[in-house]
This record gives sequence, C-alpha cells and structure tokens, in this order.
Amino acid sequence: MVMGNAPPLNPPVRTLMGPGPSDVHPRVLQAMSKGTIGHLDPYYLQVMDRMQQMLRDLFRTQNRMTLAISATGSAGMEATVVNLVEPGDPVLVCVNGVFGMRMADVATRAGAVVTQIQRPWGQVFTADEMHQAIERVKPKVVGIVMAETSTGAWQPIEEIARVVHQTDALLLVDAVTALGGIPVEVDAWQVDAIYAGTQKCLSCPPGLAPVSFSDRALEVIFQRKTKVQSWYLDIHLLANYWGTDRVYHHTAPINMTYGLYEALRVIFDEGLEACFARHVQNHRALRAGLEALGIGYAAQEGHQLPMLNAVWIPDGVDDAGTRSALLQRFGIEIGAGLGDFKGKVWRIGLMGYASRAANVLFFLSALEQLLAEQGHRFQHGSSVAAANAVYAASA
Ligand SMILES: *Cc1c(COP(=O)(O)O)cnc(C)c1O
Repeated sequence: MVMGNAPPLNPPVRTLMGPGPSDVHPRVLQAMSKGTIGHLDPYYLQVMDRMQQMLRDLFRTQNRMTLAISATGSAGMEATVVNLVEPGDPVLVCVNGVFGMRMADVATRAGAVVTQIQRPWGQVFTADEMHQAIERVKPKVVGIVMAETSTGAWQPIEEIARVVHQTDALLLVDAVTALGGIPVEVDAWQVDAIYAGTQKCLSCPPGLAPVSFSDRALEVIFQRKTKVQSWYLDIHLLANYWGTDRVYHHTAPINMTYGLYEALRVIFDEGLEACFARHVQNHRALRAGLEALGIGYAAQEGHQLPMLNAVWIPDGVDDAGTRSALLQRFGIEIGAGLGDFKGKVWRIGLMGYASRAANVLFFLSALEQLLAEQGHRFQHGSSVAAANAVYAASA
C-alpha cells in the first residue's frame, strides 16, 4: 500500500430508511459546515443556550438540567444511569427488545442490583404488571424504553409513570427513537431522567445525546455517597460547563452543536403537532402499501411506532439478498432484524426528514420489483396505489 494514496471521499447518495442514522435534513448539513469557533466563544455560548432552550421545548420540560451529551444515544443511556445509580442500588429494567437489554447491562456495570421484567418482543408493558414488579423489587430507579427500535413497539409512558410515582422510585426513559417522532411529555408525565440521540427522528448525523434530569433526580444525584463512576458523564461537572460558570470540562463538538441547533429549528419551523402528524401519515401510507403486498407488522396492534416499521419478511423471500439489492440498485437502506427477530423482520424507518411521501413511494415501488423477481405473488402496482389512497384521503 502506497502511503497518502487514499481516494477523496465520495459517499454514495443514499435514502436512509433503516433504524438510524436517518436522512439528514439539508439545512442541518449546511449548518454543520459553518466556521468552527471556540467552545467558550461568546457566540458559541449563545448557541448553546438557545439550543438548550429548544431542547427543553422539545422534551416539553422546564428542567434546568437539560443538555446534550457529547456522544451518541448510548452515552445518554450511560449518563443517566451512572448518575442515578450507586453500587448496590436496586434497579428495575423493562426488557422487550435490544435496548432494554442494553439498559440492564449498563445498570449492572454501574453496580446496580438489576431486576428485569420481560415481555415478548414486539409487546409492551402494562401499568398493572409494572405495579406488581415495583411492589416486589422496591427499586430506586425504573428504566423503560419508549420506542423500542428493535421491535417497532410504542410503549405508553403516562400510566406507568403514575405507578412509578406511587413510590419514591425515579423513572428513567429511553427516548432515543421517540424524540421528534411521537409526543414526549417530560413534565406532564414526571419523567425523572430521559435521553435521546440526534440520528433518529432529529434528522441530524449521530454525535450528540440530548438528556434531561428532573429536580427530583438532581436532588438524589447531589446526595450521592459515592462519586459518579464516569468522569466524562458526571452531571456535577457537566453542570458547571452548561450552567452559568462555564468551567472548562471537555471541548464541545462545535459543528455538531450547529447541526442539532438547526435540526431543532427545522422541527419548530414545521411545528411539533405537524411534525408528529406527518410521521403518522407516512406510516399509514407505508402500512397500507405493505398490507397490499401481504406484509404484516411485528409489533403489537395499537402499539406500532410510526417512525419504525418492523415487518415480517414474507415466506420464500431472501432477507439479506433483498436488503442488499435495495441498497445496491436503489440506494435505499433498511434495517435487518436483531436478536429474536434476526432473519424474520425488516425494520423500515420513517424518521425525521426521512418521513416523506417521496421515500414511502420510492421504497414501495423498489420493493415490488424485488419481490416480483423472487416470485412473491401480489397484484403489481397495488402497494403504491394503496399508499396513494392514504395520501389522497387526507389531501
Ligand atoms: C439507537 C438507539 C440507542 C443507541 O443510540 P446510539 O446513538 O446508537 O448510541 C438507544 N436506544 C434506542 C431505543 C435506540 O434506538
């Protein structure tokens, strides 16, 4: 290999309809290419403040401690867990997919005594079973995933929050895929700690993890007997940088902050309600199209996420071959099944800027071609027609 011979970057044009990253909004890419300035520059501090306020508006919270961790969604998970949990603390984690499993792992590594309650993949937890588990475990923290990206299940939070708050337990919510796609109400539901990521429904590249802590959670954190095990994610230290003191902690990823700033502006330009309604409409159109092809959903009826469509791969259709042809021939990326759903499910994302009629129609017509080639029987053109009927009905 000759040194210095790497070719210039030339990423292919893709349509990102997987479980993330999703299509990045052009305004976000433009914002990210603006000049890098110092992380303590007065202008940058203004950008941080404004971004922080937009994050509060999106999380629907007044929480002072609302900020963006400089890393991906998993770091948001890690940040909330390691700050809330001290070694030996009982923690209850709800597991019905990959990300609940990850949360249980993170909490175990933080020294928590973790009890898991399980539901089959694709199903959601009821307030009743949560109530029983909480009585039994008496946890300090209850962790739950609102939008389980591995199954497409939409976990309602409001009732569960009520059950959690009948005790002293703190409620920790994974909103990585939820935020920007479906309503998230941190204050109304009294969520104590929540985290998200930029590359799902925020139409941004991966790189930041918005988080928010309630005052109740902060009280618990500020009364810890032990130091937070992670220096980088310690809220005591981060608070000094994001608060008025602006004490140097780490060098913020300036241009990533520009990206998230613009992404939030894009969401509020559209309006939150309109943004959620768009996600629902494109989901309905995709669902109608897939049904015309005889393809059904893996998540429980009535609890299907608009932005992550986990669907059964039809019998006789080649999983990897079809996904690879979508990518090679059409530039469309969709996701494979994980864990229990490996080889059984495709995950079709309609997240943020990727949730567009153009993507739904493009994907359905490409899929029809590939299914026809493999001898799958359906009425040609029916999926696009069914999707268009959904759009026509709401025009
Ligand atoms: C993607 C995702 C994560 C992890 O986020 P990364 O940005 O990949 O680190 C956590 N939870 C859920 C529900 C996710 O979809």
